Amino acid sequence: MRLVLLGPPGSGKGTQATRLKEHLNIAHISTGDLLRAEVAAGTELGKQAKAVMDAGNLVSDDILLGMLESRLGQADVANGFILDGYPRNVAQANALDAVLAKIGQPLDAVVQLDVPSELLVERIAGRAQEQGRADDNPESVRKRLQVYTDQTAPVVDFYAGRGTLARVDGVGELADVEARIQAALKR
Ligand code: AMP
Repeated sequence: MRLVLLGPPGSGKGTQATRLKEHLNIAHISTGDLLRAEVAAGTELGKQAKAVMDAGNLVSDDILLGMLESRLGQADVANGFILDGYPRNVAQANALDAVLAKIGQPLDAVVQLDVPSELLVERIAGRAQEQGRADDNPESVRKRLQVYTDQTAPVVDFYAGRGTLARVDGVGELADVEARIQAALKR
C-alpha cells in the first residue's frame, strides 16, 4: 500500500500515520520528522532548514525532493509507505509522480483528513505544550495555516481532479478516525 495522507497542520496526520504504519506494516515517511532530524544532527541541510521551519514557511522543493528520493531508496519502503507532510505544493505533487513512476511504484490512495480550522488552532496549542516544537508558537502557526491554504490546499484539488482522493472526517476519537481511513482505503 502506497499512500499519501493530506491535511492541514494539526489535523492529526502524524498521529494517524503512526497508527497506520503499525497496522498496515508499511513505512511512515514524515518529511517534517526527516527535517527535524537534520536540524537535531546539526547538518548543513538542517542549518539551512531551521530558520525557514521556525518561521512556518516551506523548505525548498529541491531539498525536499533529494531527501524524499533517498528515503524511498531505503529497504523498509519495499512493503509500501505512508507519506505524511509531502507533497506540500503542486510542484511537489508533480515531482512525486515522476519519482514514483521512475521506480515503478505509483500511489494506491490519497486521503485528506478534514478538520475545521477552529479545532486546528486548539490542537496545535495542545501539542505545543506536550512536545515543545519550535514552530508551534502563535505567529508560526498562523503562517503555517496560511501556507496550507495558499500552497497545500491546491494539492487536494490536484488529486481530487484525478479521482484518487478520499476525504475523511478527522474529528473524533483516534481509533474512529483511523477506522474511517481504513474503510476509505478498502473502497
Ligand atoms: P510538519 O512536521 O509536516 O508540520 O513539517 C514541519 C515543517 O517542516 C513545515 O512547516 C515546513 O517548514 C517543513 N516541511 C515539512 N515537509 C515539507 C515539505 N514537503 N515541503 C516543504 N517544507 C516542508
